[in-house]
Amino acid sequence: SYRKGGYHAVRIGDSFSGGRYIAQRKLGWGEFSTVWLAYDTRSSEFVALKIQKSAPQFAQAALHEIEVLSAIADGDPSNSKYVVRLIDHFKHTGPNGQHSCMVLEFLGDSLLRLVKYNRYKGLELDKVREICKCILIGLDYLHRELGIIHTDLKLENVLLLSTINATQDPIRSGTPPILERPEGIPNGGATMNIIEKKLKQRARRAAARISGRRASMGGVGGGAKTNRSLDGIDLKCKVVDFGSACWADKQFAQEIQTRQYRSPEVILQSGYSFSADMWSFACIAFELATGEMMFTPKGGQGFSEDEDHLAMMMELLGKIPRKIANGGARSKDYFDRYGDLKRIRRLKYGSLEKLLIDKFRFSETDALEFAKFLCPLLDFEPENRPTAQQCSQHPWLNITSQNQTEVKSESGMEKVNVGMRNLQIKAGK
Ligand code: ATP
Ligand code: MG
Ligand code: MG
Repeated sequence: SYRKGGYHAVRIGDSFSGGRYIAQRKLGWGEFSTVWLAYDTRSSEFVALKIQKSAPQFAQAALHEIEVLSAIADGDPSNSKYVVRLIDHFKHTGPNGQHSCMVLEFLGDSLLRLVKYNRYKGLELDKVREICKCILIGLDYLHRELGIIHTDLKLENVLLLSTINATQDPIRSGTPPILERPEGIPNGGATMNIIEKKLKQRARRAAARISGRRASMGGVGGGAKTNRSLDGIDLKCKVVDFGSACWADKQFAQEIQTRQYRSPEVILQSGYSFSADMWSFACIAFELATGEMMFTPKGGQGFSEDEDHLAMMMELLGKIPRKIANGGARSKDYFDRYGDLKRIRRLKYGSLEKLLIDKFRFSETDALEFAKFLCPLLDFEPENRPTAQQCSQHPWLNITSQNQTEVKSESGMEKVNVGMRNLQIKAGK
């Protein structure tokens, strides 16, 4: 893809926008772009530089993304809404053409990385709550204040404010920025390797510094590789990737959302709105808490992926009301007039609560409470789903986990006892 119309090849130390930004290392890439950690010499801060492929359709897509990101930044001057901030944008001409570039605030690892890091075990519910709160503030802002539907919420598109591995984080590791292309190294294929080696050395030295500092705090740099503690990782996060976002009153795509996070109204093509994001949000919350996706449909003999998906939804959440099943442009492909799936006849009905207990070993209370939070978001009738604002008021978000309450009250008792004993001793004296 590094050809005309494709990605722009970047070398560490390359400068952009008249020398303002200097490439430090690659952060990631997508279908449309490569994303680089860059140093902003004007603000003396690290930023993320997203360099779009140069072909016209990518330039068009970037223009749209910039429009959405600008509206987001304009509406939130204090940058407090848990949505990624656009800092700047410009065009960069290279051998493969002219590339739209977006400068975004530098964020950390995605929630997918976090779940992988946690070995797909599912995060503690208190951590899930913290993440959910951030996403809901972001969604409420997008939906209610801006009228924007994200349309592609998933774990990859929510980034932590800090990185899991402190050595990867130029701010926490205190690694000084690279200000020019390292000298004495010839250009060409080998360049990156040599520079990357040097950078790794430097990161290792920084890591040693950090682990020295943090070992006693049980932080991420603390060494205990097997433990995988999430202590010390600030679990605040932001919503990113507005490449497919749209205004509710200016939609262009019929088929939105990544498969596993896709809502029933999108599958049935009965029209969608903000509530489609709320469905995906529920899928995210479930995945964080269990380590597994809620729905992983596969096509099979005699039925499609869509039909499998609808069947899985009904097995977990109950039958789709006939009016809804038959209300979409695609309904006739999947449902008969009684609202039963045409090609998947026998469903194994269960419930979210039961699944959480049986498969994921939730306690009954945890399962009941979490299911009470999720189920309204997974209502087949989009209009019935709570809005982000309503959802953010849900009592589940303010529960402190049972364990904690027990531990707290136990230690509380202990303190009382100790205090009384002390008093008695004092009194006795
Ligand atoms: P997609 O195919 O997902 O639409 P894309 O080309 O639009 O990809 P993004 O998803 O925006 O690109 O970014 C690609 C990757 O770069 C992300 O998955 C993430 O790892 C990294 N990244 C993006 N933005 C940031 C940021 N602000 N801070 C840190 N890393 C980022
Ligand atoms: Mg993406
Ligand atoms: Mg994108």
